[in-house]
Parts: sequence; C-alpha cells; structure tokens
Amino acid sequence: MSTDRSKRIYLSPPHMGGSEQKYIAEAFESNFIAPLGPQVNGFEKDFSEISGFKHCAALTSGTAAMHLALRILGVSSGDVVIASDLTFIGSVSPVTFLGAEPVFVDSDYETWNMDPELLDKAIKSCIAEGRTPKAVVPTDLYGQCADYDRILEVLKPYSIPLVIDAAESVGSMYKGKFAGKGAFAAVYSFNGNKIITSSGGGMLASDDEETIEKARWLSQQAREPKPYYEHNEIGYNYRMSNVVAAIGRGQLEVLEERVRRKREIFDFYEQRLASHKGLSFMPDPDFGKSNRWLTVMLIDSSLFGATPEEIRLALEKENIESRPVWNPMHRQPVFKNCQTFGGKVGEDLFEHGLCLPCGTAMTADELELVVSTILNCRK
Ligand SMILES: *Cc1c(COP(=O)(O)O)cnc(C)c1O
Repeated sequence: MSTDRSKRIYLSPPHMGGSEQKYIAEAFESNFIAPLGPQVNGFEKDFSEISGFKHCAALTSGTAAMHLALRILGVSSGDVVIASDLTFIGSVSPVTFLGAEPVFVDSDYETWNMDPELLDKAIKSCIAEGRTPKAVVPTDLYGQCADYDRILEVLKPYSIPLVIDAAESVGSMYKGKFAGKGAFAAVYSFNGNKIITSSGGGMLASDDEETIEKARWLSQQAREPKPYYEHNEIGYNYRMSNVVAAIGRGQLEVLEERVRRKREIFDFYEQRLASHKGLSFMPDPDFGKSNRWLTVMLIDSSLFGATPEEIRLALEKENIESRPVWNPMHRQPVFKNCQTFGGKVGEDLFEHGLCLPCGTAMTADELELVVSTILNCRK
C-alpha cells in the first residue's frame, strides 16, 4: 500500500476550500484585522441566507452562542434548563455559567437524540416541583437532527422556548429546512473538527431581531451607545474577529460539497462493514438528511470478536485516530447532583459506539486501511 503511515489519519481535521485566503486577503487589505468589519457582516449575511434564519450573530464559539441564547432568555440562578444527556459539554456548561441547573433527558434509539416522550415526563416533573424549565436545548447528535416537530409539540402547552444545539449539524436538513430552523434560536459551531471550520467560532441564529441585536451587544461588553464608556449590564468578549469570519465565509462556499463527501464516507463504511456480524451504524430517520459529521459505528463485541476499545487501539497502532461516543452528561463527575430522565440508551451507545475517521480529504487508500484494520483485529 502506498499510504504513508507517518502521516496520521485524524478523526475530522480541517479541510480548506480555496477561497478562504481570498477573504483573508480582503480583511488584510482593508486593515480590518481587529474585531468587527465587513467580513463579519458578510459571514452573518451568508449564514442567514443559507440557514433561512432572518438574523445571525457571529461569535467566538458555539459555547458562547449557547451562553448568550440562554442569558437572553432570562436563564439565571436557580433556574432549570433541559438538555440532551448524550452530548458534548459545550452544550451544557453555559447553563452552569448562569447559575442554573441542567436536567438531562436520554436519547431514543430511532434518532439517538432527545426522546420527546421522556422530555414531556421531565417537564411535568420539573413543573410539579415548582420549577418550570426556562428552555429546552436538544443536541443534533453527530449531525443528525433531533425530531424538532415532535419536541415542539411537547413544548407547545408549556410555551417553553426551544434552542437547538446545531453545533454538529451545520448543513443537515430537517424536513427540507436547514438544521436548527423552526426553533426560537439555534447555535452553530465552526470549531476545528466540525464539518466546516473558521479555526474556531460560532453563530447564534434566530428570526427574532431583538434577540440577535442583544447578542451582538452582550458579545461586545454591553457598552451603552454613548461617546464615553458606560455599562448598565455585564457583557462578554464573545464577538468573532474579521479574520476568523473571512475563513468562515470561504468554508460556507464548500459546505454542500463537504456534506456530500461526509455522506459518501459514511456510505462507504456502512457498505463495507455493516454486513459483518456485530457491526451496525447510526440510523437515518426519514424526516431529515444528516450531514454525517461523524460516522459512528456500533459494535456488539460478542458477535464481532473485538470490543470498541480493541478496535480503537488497533487503529491507533496504524496511526489512525478514532474516538468513543460522547460520554453521557449524567456520568460526568461535575454533574453528579443533576437530575436525569432515562440514561440507559446513552450509556448503551457510549459503551458500544466508536466514531470512525471521516475527514473530507481522506483518500480511498486511507478509507480501505481503516476498514481492513477494523476487520483484521477480530480474535
Ligand atoms: C462542538 C460542540 C459545541 C461547542 O462548540 P464550540 O464552538 O467548540 O464552543 C457545543 N455542542 C456540541 C454538541 C458540540 O459538538
């Protein structure tokens, strides 16, 4: 095999499209290197167009976007926010920044995302304790949209706002609409390993203009519109810089192409591996079209002949990165006192899942090597 094994195969590395440097050059030529400038406005406008959200605020990270969304919804000390149990901590830590408490809801097997029936149970239980949740923030896991319509139906009688954590689902579709659309607000991430990256960054999107204007204001230290500095509220330094936005604009141009390639890689793995006893892949509910940010495989080790950890180590020996599924929030020591509804589905997916390398620039040889390494590690 011609593959150079000194070159590590990463899980999901950045993949530039070509026009990023053109936008960066524009930023340099205009000397808008400092935060704000035409690239930030351009990135927000481009993202509005692609997402269908009327208003967008470009920020330093997805975590910052979630923090601002919850702050603007009035989440504060003693409040409860319902979140996905099976997610990345950036989805949930903003709840604690505001002194509020997350309550976790398990996934269902159909979507691997927040189970709407369990969500209803969780809401009823919180209300019975006199603590109506201030927001519900489901994650679109690994690019798969949660079943928004069913979740919205659950939320309707309570008028609790929905904020979708679409950090992983940039470019995915739910019933023909962009991931996150339909919620009060949605949070996106352009961190280094996401499907497109601005080298780090995030976006808060909403159809509510006031929300996005407030987010921009809070992200720039909540300065009053006066010639001198005056602050009536505490803000943050969360605004995206003009250079970072330039990279984001270039990446948006190749989003469709990246989704196409991610889905192709998923299909390749599924075709080559799913026929082997004990191996299966993340389901694909017909309400959506996942961007397949990460390809996740489930391993039944008694049928297959190797555990997810044995596969991971065998890949590592070939200098190939793979990673366990997110460790559910209810298992995190920092959340040991938080309430969880269900939890067994997330635990099961964590125990049996493995995220396979799926960088959009991977070669056919590299993909073959991953497959043969997985199949050869059976006892
Ligand atoms: C990446 C990620 C975030 C955080 O985004 P950052 O831009 O890294 O802050 C939040 N939630 C989920 C589910 C993520 O995968």
